[in-house]
Amino acid sequence: MTHAEMRRMFGGDRRLAMFGFTVETITLLLLPMVTTKKEALGSMGNDAPLACLSQYMPLIYSYFKQLFAQVTNPPIDPFREKIVMSLACPIGPEANILESSELQCNRLYLEQPILSVNDLQVIVDCKYKNWRTCVIDVTYPVEKGARGMLSTIDRVAGAACQAAKDGYQLIVLSDRKAGPERVPVSPLLVLGATHHHLIEERQRMKVGLIVETGEAREVHQMCVLLGFGADAICPYMVFEIMAALREEKVLDETFTDKVIFTNYVAAMSRGIAKVMAKMGISTLQSYKGAQIFEAVGLNHEVIDKCFKGTASRLDGVTFKMLADEALCRHRLSYNLRECDTYVLPNPGYYHWRKGGEKHINDPDNIASLQAAARTNSKNAYERFVASSMTTIRECTLRGQLTMVESQTPVDISEVEPASEIVKRFCTGAMSFGSISYETHTTLAIAMNRVGGKSNTGEGGENSERFVIEDPKNIKRSAIKQVASGRFGVTATYLANADEIQIKMAQGAKPGEGGELPGHKVSEDIAKTRHSVPGVGLISPPPHHDIYSIEDLAELIYDLKSANPAARISVKLVSEVGVGVVASGVAKGKAEHITISGHDGGTGASSWTGIKFAGLPWELGLSETHQTLTLNNLRSRVVLQVDGQIRTGFDVLVGAILGADEFGFSTAPLIALGCIMMRKCHLNTCPVGIATQDPELRKKFEGQPEHVINYLFLLAEEVRGYMAKLGVRKFNDLIGQTQYLKLRDDLPPKTKLLNFARILLHAQDLRPNTNILGGSVAQDFELSTRMEEGIIAQCMDVIDGKTDRVHIQADIMNNCRTFGATLSYHIAKKHLDAGLPDNSIQLDLKGSAGQSFAAFLSKGVHITLEGDANDYVGKGLSGGELTIYPPKGMPEEFHSEDNIIVGNVCLYGATSGRAMIRGQAAERFCVRNSGATAVIEGVGDHCCEYMTGGRVLILGPTGRNFAAGMSGGIAYVYSEVAEDFQKKCNMEMVDLLPMEKEEDIMFVEALLREFSEKTGSLVALRILDNWPESVKKFTKVFPYEYRRALRQLAEAEFKKKQLEKKKEAKEESDEEPDVLDIEDSITDPEKEKKVLVKLDKMRGFLQYDREKIMYRSAAERMKDWNEIYNHKLVKKGLRRQAARCMECGTPMCQSTTGCPLGNIIPKWNDLVYKGLWEEALDHLLQTNNFPEFTGRVCPAPCEGACVLGIINPPVTIKNIECAIIDHGFEMGWVHPEPPLRRTGKKVAIVGGGPAGMAAAAQLNKAGHTAVVLERNDRIGGLLQYGIPTMKLDKGVVARRVKLLEDEGVMFVTNCNVGVDVKPKELLSEYDAVILCTGASWPRDLPIPGRKLEGIHFAMEFLETWQKKQMGNDIDETRLSAKDRDVIVIGGGDTGNDCIGTSLRHGARSVTAFEILPRPPDSRASDNPWPEWPKVFRVDYGHEEVKHKFGADPRHYSIMSKEFLSDDSGRVSGVRTVRVEWVKDDEGRWQLKEQPDTEQVFKADLVILAMGFLGPEADLIKQMELEQDPRSNVKTPPGKYNTSLPGVFAAGDCRRGQSLIVWAISEGRQVARQVDEFLSDGLTMLPSEGGIIRIPAMGEKKAWDPLEDYEIPV
Ligand SMILES: Cc1cc2nc3c(=O)[nH]c(=O)nc-3n(C[C@H](O)[C@H](O)[C@H](O)COP(=O)(O)OP(=O)(O)OC[C@H]3O[C@@H](n4cnc5c(N)ncnc54)[C@H](O)[C@@H]3O)c2cc1C
Ligand code: SF4
Ligand code: SF4
Repeated sequence: MTHAEMRRMFGGDRRLAMFGFTVETITLLLLPMVTTKKEALGSMGNDAPLACLSQYMPLIYSYFKQLFAQVTNPPIDPFREKIVMSLACPIGPEANILESSELQCNRLYLEQPILSVNDLQVIVDCKYKNWRTCVIDVTYPVEKGARGMLSTIDRVAGAACQAAKDGYQLIVLSDRKAGPERVPVSPLLVLGATHHHLIEERQRMKVGLIVETGEAREVHQMCVLLGFGADAICPYMVFEIMAALREEKVLDETFTDKVIFTNYVAAMSRGIAKVMAKMGISTLQSYKGAQIFEAVGLNHEVIDKCFKGTASRLDGVTFKMLADEALCRHRLSYNLRECDTYVLPNPGYYHWRKGGEKHINDPDNIASLQAAARTNSKNAYERFVASSMTTIRECTLRGQLTMVESQTPVDISEVEPASEIVKRFCTGAMSFGSISYETHTTLAIAMNRVGGKSNTGEGGENSERFVIEDPKNIKRSAIKQVASGRFGVTATYLANADEIQIKMAQGAKPGEGGELPGHKVSEDIAKTRHSVPGVGLISPPPHHDIYSIEDLAELIYDLKSANPAARISVKLVSEVGVGVVASGVAKGKAEHITISGHDGGTGASSWTGIKFAGLPWELGLSETHQTLTLNNLRSRVVLQVDGQIRTGFDVLVGAILGADEFGFSTAPLIALGCIMMRKCHLNTCPVGIATQDPELRKKFEGQPEHVINYLFLLAEEVRGYMAKLGVRKFNDLIGQTQYLKLRDDLPPKTKLLNFARILLHAQDLRPNTNILGGSVAQDFELSTRMEEGIIAQCMDVIDGKTDRVHIQADIMNNCRTFGATLSYHIAKKHLDAGLPDNSIQLDLKGSAGQSFAAFLSKGVHITLEGDANDYVGKGLSGGELTIYPPKGMPEEFHSEDNIIVGNVCLYGATSGRAMIRGQAAERFCVRNSGATAVIEGVGDHCCEYMTGGRVLILGPTGRNFAAGMSGGIAYVYSEVAEDFQKKCNMEMVDLLPMEKEEDIMFVEALLREFSEKTGSLVALRILDNWPESVKKFTKVFPYEYRRALRQLAEAEFKKKQLEKKKEAKEESDEEPDVLDIEDSITDPEKEKKVLVKLDKMRGFLQYDREKIMYRSAAERMKDWNEIYNHKLVKKGLRRQAARCMECGTPMCQSTTGCPLGNIIPKWNDLVYKGLWEEALDHLLQTNNFPEFTGRVCPAPCEGACVLGIINPPVTIKNIECAIIDHGFEMGWVHPEPPLRRTGKKVAIVGGGPAGMAAAAQLNKAGHTAVVLERNDRIGGLLQYGIPTMKLDKGVVARRVKLLEDEGVMFVTNCNVGVDVKPKELLSEYDAVILCTGASWPRDLPIPGRKLEGIHFAMEFLETWQKKQMGNDIDETRLSAKDRDVIVIGGGDTGNDCIGTSLRHGARSVTAFEILPRPPDSRASDNPWPEWPKVFRVDYGHEEVKHKFGADPRHYSIMSKEFLSDDSGRVSGVRTVRVEWVKDDEGRWQLKEQPDTEQVFKADLVILAMGFLGPEADLIKQMELEQDPRSNVKTPPGKYNTSLPGVFAAGDCRRGQSLIVWAISEGRQVARQVDEFLSDGLTMLPSEGGIIRIPAMGEKKAWDPLEDYEIPV
């Protein structure tokens, strides 16, 4: 949806802003829900501030974080196992459940909890069986101020209680009455308070609570409402917005009210189910009122009243603060002054936007980190730390802390070296698949070099990487992760680990699984993950082999057995209670625990999970360290922390709160070149990091050194802190919370937080406890196993000393994980190849314990006569397994009717064979990716998530067969085919009759083998009836797998076709489709074609940057018209716009990018879509005069564009110019005078771009803006500095006229300080703004300076401009006609003088620049995204070259003297060549080169060496303070001068600069002046066009903050 649409629709509906809707809410969240029936996906985690730290008034829902199941119980996969999920719920009065009566049925049954507006109306009106519904208003009159909130909460709770007592069955809490006169109390607060009040009064079961709200709309918000007691919710605003969007044609007519409702409910139901499932809750009935949340930063008074029993460990925001924020939102929504508030706010909660909500990964941090990593420069790293600390303070809990410096610091040389500290560092679990092979291996090499550890992630690792060929470039990851997906977890994979990490949860989306879409599963990835290219891979939440702490302990044991040398780690995510969980995990013998914060990165995931699940690591880590210490378990485990760790400060806080080790994910990726595009899920990462596209992978430029540099710089930062703390050894930091305290300078909102629990010293809880992580070893008692003896007997075979061994033994069920350590020895030596078949034959008898034959390697064949427990053949890795019941069982024993193996057998098997005579319990062959198994019957969920292998089932199956099965084939024998079909989950598979010859032969052979090996009578019976029995088999064939196989066959064919096409294309030399915008706009058909043809997703790869901008030099130098080739530039602009990748963190808007914060990606996208009016709307949000910047801005945005890293950047400036010019042509730009006048008058001295912008903004705010300009025309340097050929003066006049029509008053020929005295201004106006520019030119006081014919550039340019404008002026003295012109100064002004001289008809033109010639491409000390200091040829240079054959510029040249002719006129310049060398301190020094003197002929010299600052007269008269560069002094980031009521902006404040900066300063000064005139409340936007709300708690006259007592 575009702004124009929003503006049209919601211009009059201020409820949206009042209820906290933003552009993102509608476009990013709601529209996808209604159009796709699913929630939208995001990536790279959440790096925005916690609600309790945000200054952007987040709604109260955001203070709640969803809890999730880890270890104590399993989360559910709500999609693949939806048979257990239900949102249906009866609501209304409950009767005594112990008495059966008809009253039990007297309830309202809802299929799901979302009500349409009609549904609610029906309920309210319903009188059936005397049902009555009481509607209670939750709003209050605005005059009540902040007090209104609490009294309303009490009123509603009381009224609800009375209604319950009065016999109402349903209560509706409604905010419908909210509007200009009435403020809504958040329904969550009212609901929570009412729910608890009803419970206390024993009335809750008598009534159902329904919420009718304009505020709640997102999945998380609904979940919080349900979790705190709502029975049903009617989010009426959502339906109104969507209906309005249909009117606007954003949604087409098929989206009837019914479709909108149904789709929204479908998406919402999915979302709610997912949130419930992550806690392992399967019915809404159990979830409702269960309060499965932790609050972060809500004060106990709020919790006690509304959310009783909810954990809120930090205290924090009070009712008063919440009421203030709500009132402030109301005030902003219904303010009488419109300014820019007609558009819906877009503060960038999800994607970074200049001037908006803070994000840890902002462009400055990204750029400075890359610079530091690449150059290994301490200075660059310090810049990175400085910018990171700003965002860390804005966004994180640790940012509120500071170090307690020691009275006895130590010298840094005494502190443990960085080389030791880096060994504590690990890179995060980022799978090959989510990142490219190049990135994955570079990280591994880097970490191996520093002695740290890289983590495979759950995607596995190719065994080639285990072989060390080059010791300097070891690609093997030290940490091998094992997640529920179990991709490629083989005996070899485990044997080659230093640490094996069990992923219980992932910080970015705890309790959820993931999915790798088929298009990302390349050949390599498929190989690593033991799957088929093109087949999507599902990674479920851990709910198959981990139901409890015992199951986790078993997995720990399994993995230890599979690699006794590796450390076993468990990854947990921070939430309340994680400390107890970690204690359990430590008792389960984990040796290492990772605590992840909520903010870690991820590939694609729903925004609800990314934003609202999990807690900050500061809370989880401190709790874990404290609980482990309290239980004397801390010494048994090493603790690691991860989650947006990037600076030494993060590491310091982590250590002090209890961490031994540190995980880094996003930061090393950024060091390697990641630019936080947040497009990971699209496979279009332009720097080759999060992509599998072979073309893009070639763009990867990261080097191990970049990561190493970064980690060492960081370790040095840590050492610096340690020295200041007086700590020499890192171990002495760990857990020592006395080294941290709260910052003194916290903003009022943050001051409310209480860090006492985080900063509790664990050893105070249990003094003298050993807290040295890992100092006490966990005892797995491996040496006492019976397997040890068997291994000893097999070693000769493993070592190749003998071929075979045959062992017979008995086994008992206390023998767990039999075969895994044997396989470890084989895998260590022989990798995946294993041993030749049947090298080791083990015949066992008895009952095997858990995990029998887990990870069994190739070459081992085990026969078990008896039975086995759970997890048989887990991770089978090529071994063979035969299990049958004891021989000699009585005749009435039928193996096919009895369970012989337990749950979760062959889970994650990758290869090998298993023949099992009898039935398996639940979850057989889950996530099998390559093993062949035969069995006589299975329980529920068989073949779930299977990606490969073959499974033959000869008997009954349980429910949910084949859920999420994307590969492999199952053959199921069933007497009645329909029986099986009913049990099968059909979402991903086809059920086919077994007809193909190859299938029939395969199954027959397998049956024969099975019967032979196990003696199965079932198999015999089937074979006896062959081929008749073939008909009773069903082939379960996943359609993705089928498609992938078909695609392989088609690939060849396609390849040939492509070759043919390519040939044909080469033959036709046709121009690609390029359209004029005019053409494209007037011809919708053509437009559609173009849109279809242009590929935006890969446009940056497909299309070149347009090179031609100007008319030809030969043509343009003959006239004074604009140099631009507007027509050609406009051609193909959409193609140029399609090159923009719409970056998640658009660097073009960063500090080094557009100073205005122009919303470039958005308008680029709109131009690409052909939506010009909407693009204009976006453009005007941030830039008052795009027609100026679009022509003359040097476009720092393009210098910062990420595309510039790999290709020429996006053409931004031309698009900007085209949008506004087109807007004028179409009549879309017209005067919009303010609706109301404030009666306040502001004088603006100077009519340049800064003054004009300030006037435009102040006028919008309703003030009378009077611009006083000493020149005869408005425009400043736009008018008389920048020549006509760069900026047509008609363009300036058009804008001046428009401003006049809007009400700005211009007074020309008024020299303030001369014609008007400052005192008069101050008395006549409410405020004065100086925008007088920087017109004090730099002189060149060398001999001969006084000669005639030497002029400042501005004299030269201004005179000529005036002449051109028709002023009566004699320009001959300054004319270049027939003169030899020398321009001194090589900047843009010099270039304008060159172009002007040439057009005058100069005889020759020469230009001097004292600096050396810039390089052709970026120098290493000028990294992206800084402004590229490279050699450029501008229009003037090109023209001179065209006319005189050579570029006019001479570099490294210094003028020594102006030479005179006989008449006192300059005749030449004596020069010398210079050299620039660095002195001992690294400063550049200028050295004259001997014998290089040269005289240049000149009869006109123009001095274009820049400006020193503003003219001093007026400043002196006003007695304003000046800064050392003589500019008007203002505080940093502010515009007020030393004189109250006087402000300054533009070049007079910042020194000689750019038009874009002048406009930016003009806008910002206007905002500050408006604030000054309006008691602190301004509606004018700050940076990036965002209307910023004053920080809460800063008491201002308008501020609703008032002191009142909270009733206890
Ligand atoms: C030749 C030249 C070419 C340039 N080219 C570019 C370019 O291509 N792109 C770019 O981005 N930037 C360019 N710049 C820089 C850009 O023009 C300035 O940064 C910008 O104009 C500054 O705006 P301003 O409003 O602060 O000051 P100015 O534009 O200088 O306006 C100040 C105004 O104040 C008036 N004034 C001063 N004192 C008084 C007084 N006492 N009473 C009343 N009025 C007063 C002046 O007459 C003037 O009109 C160029 C500058 C020059 C000199
Ligand atoms: S104003 Fe300048 S920096 Fe900003 S978008 Fe336009 S060209 Fe780029
Ligand atoms: S212009 Fe460049 S930096 Fe900006 S969003 Fe587009 S591609 Fe990204």
